[in-house]
Amino acid sequence: MSAAYSFINHTYDVIVVGAGGAGLRSALGMSAAGLKTACITKVFPTRSHTVAAQGGISAALANMGDGDDWRYHFYDTIKGSDWLGDQDAIEYMCKNAIPAVVELEHLGVPFSRTEEGKIYQRSFGGHTIKQGESMAKRACAAADRTGHAILHTLYQQCLKHQSEFFIEYFVLDLIMTDDGRCVGVIAWCLEDGTLHRFQAHIVVLATGGYGRTYFSCTSAHTCTGDGNGMVLRAGLPLQDMEFVQFHPTGIYTAGCLITEGARGEGGYLTNSEGERFMERYAPHAKDLASRDVVSRAIAIELLEGRGVGEHKDHVHLHVEHLDPKLVHERLPGVVETARVFACVDATKGPIPVLPTVHYNMGGIPTNYHGQVIKDSNETVVPGLMAIGEAACVSVHGANRLGTNSLLDLVVFGRAAALKAAEIIKPNSPHPTLKKEDGAVAVERFDRLRYANGSLKTSHIRLSMQKTMQQHCAVFRKQSLLEEGIDKLKDVNTMLADIQINDRSFIWNTDLLEALELENLLPQSTVTINSALHRTESRGAHARDDYPERDDVNWLKHSLCWLDEKQVIKLDTRSVHMHTLTNEVRPVPLQKRVY
Ligand SMILES: Cc1cc2nc3c(=O)[nH]c(=O)nc-3n(C[C@H](O)[C@H](O)[C@H](O)COP(=O)(O)OP(=O)(O)OC[C@H]3O[C@@H](n4cnc5c(N)ncnc54)[C@H](O)[C@@H]3O)c2cc1C
Repeated sequence: MSAAYSFINHTYDVIVVGAGGAGLRSALGMSAAGLKTACITKVFPTRSHTVAAQGGISAALANMGDGDDWRYHFYDTIKGSDWLGDQDAIEYMCKNAIPAVVELEHLGVPFSRTEEGKIYQRSFGGHTIKQGESMAKRACAAADRTGHAILHTLYQQCLKHQSEFFIEYFVLDLIMTDDGRCVGVIAWCLEDGTLHRFQAHIVVLATGGYGRTYFSCTSAHTCTGDGNGMVLRAGLPLQDMEFVQFHPTGIYTAGCLITEGARGEGGYLTNSEGERFMERYAPHAKDLASRDVVSRAIAIELLEGRGVGEHKDHVHLHVEHLDPKLVHERLPGVVETARVFACVDATKGPIPVLPTVHYNMGGIPTNYHGQVIKDSNETVVPGLMAIGEAACVSVHGANRLGTNSLLDLVVFGRAAALKAAEIIKPNSPHPTLKKEDGAVAVERFDRLRYANGSLKTSHIRLSMQKTMQQHCAVFRKQSLLEEGIDKLKDVNTMLADIQINDRSFIWNTDLLEALELENLLPQSTVTINSALHRTESRGAHARDDYPERDDVNWLKHSLCWLDEKQVIKLDTRSVHMHTLTNEVRPVPLQKRVY
């Protein structure tokens, strides 16, 4: 380690990295269990991307008299995942959804209400009763600002339970021992420039998704998958990274999300001929088919020349036929987003929309307790957990159903806390860290801080984002992916020539963005290589050259490693086709039609 630095040392029972819904729910559980818990976050907790979640959180409460049951939720999630989701984890999530949402209500989340005062629920894509017999109303909503309501409530609860917060601290890397145990993290305080070494019995990565690998996405600029980057650098694999969800209704050009709740309330899509084209692609569920199905349908409409606008490059979403009072009450965010980003009054005219990157099904492989696993034998990495969008449990498999992510955050945030409380005795002693523990992270930090090349971070990042958008989008094929891989190799070469102008420690956003890019780029490489490797179409991964799902060869999770020499290693892990209890039976393979 450079002589110019010294660490400020901290010890905790648990370190949670990330203060989105997942990080806060786990920090709350850990603190409530008496564990000394610190939550480190690069943005103020309530600015985490969870705040932007709109449509709702799923739970089969049956408040709208639709006869919903968690077993229907279980079936829909497996079907939505195109059978790639682990059925034991899906059972755990769907069953625990009901107490989890009731718990949120009791913690103070201001849900919208029915006439009788129950939590209001709306329809969402792929949510059905009795395996598709009719549409369910399963999405529990606080207007179209559900994430906002949940995140603020969880933050208040964490403060109440004395979780300690380190806000605007950027975690650089994990501290791993030679025998593969995680014992802490190195972080940089953006405000005063100090470097910190946090030691803990368990580190929980809750760092969110990596939408910013693409040019157009609905996620915040901070969604750079830093935890995934740290895991790759620690020599651990990422799982199912080829599965990137495109949301059908990002606002044309700006990319901001128009929630699926808009279609859940009765909205529909049309092409240049004014046709409700989803009736052709999903005769039953129509506009409420699952996201991959609707996004592909839009992509085909555009390819076949039925897009709207001068360039025929988007479609229309209609809510103007609905009662304006209902639109203002249930979808106020949609009205505002349409006005600000498309200059459209949604109660009077159609909203221009286009499929946009929205969610990462892949991530850090874990079991349903949140413990990170590192190989096809599911060997647990001691001291390391991952939850939320950073993790791949896997409950979403090849395609996530809307509202199942907020649910994943709270159910597995809680599960991780329960497991940690089981493993750790509060305030138990820590092994002594070596002086050089964390030095590698600081060397990397320093290398970038003094980088004196010729290319700006923004330029390199844009090359990566355009490559991903062009070569690894809704439809994929071998030649396109191979060209993309070559282009990403060039982007990697560019990274070696990066230029940092600011050498200071305090609020050095130039350096911060470069560190984030060093996390994004390996995730792009892993995503596109995993996409090339998987020679089938399943869920969000649609290969032109392999249009069918191939259960004989590909009913398995992909694992992908990337070493410092940019060498890719691929392996697979079995999909769990069993359940945890006999309250529900495993769902056998079926063709997936909506
Ligand atoms: C616009 C939009 C709308 C959505 N709507 C819905 C919906 O209605 N229903 C639904 O179920 N899902 C929805 N989703 C998906 C869902 O909101 C996200 O998947 C989920 O909120 C991710 O939560 P998280 O806790 O995993 O991460 P995030 O909320 O992204 O939080 C990540 C945290 O990690 C911290 N962090 C990251 N890197 C570092 C680092 N290096 N050092 C320190 N801290 C770090 C950040 O500061 C932040 O606190 C939506 C997503 C978007 C983008």
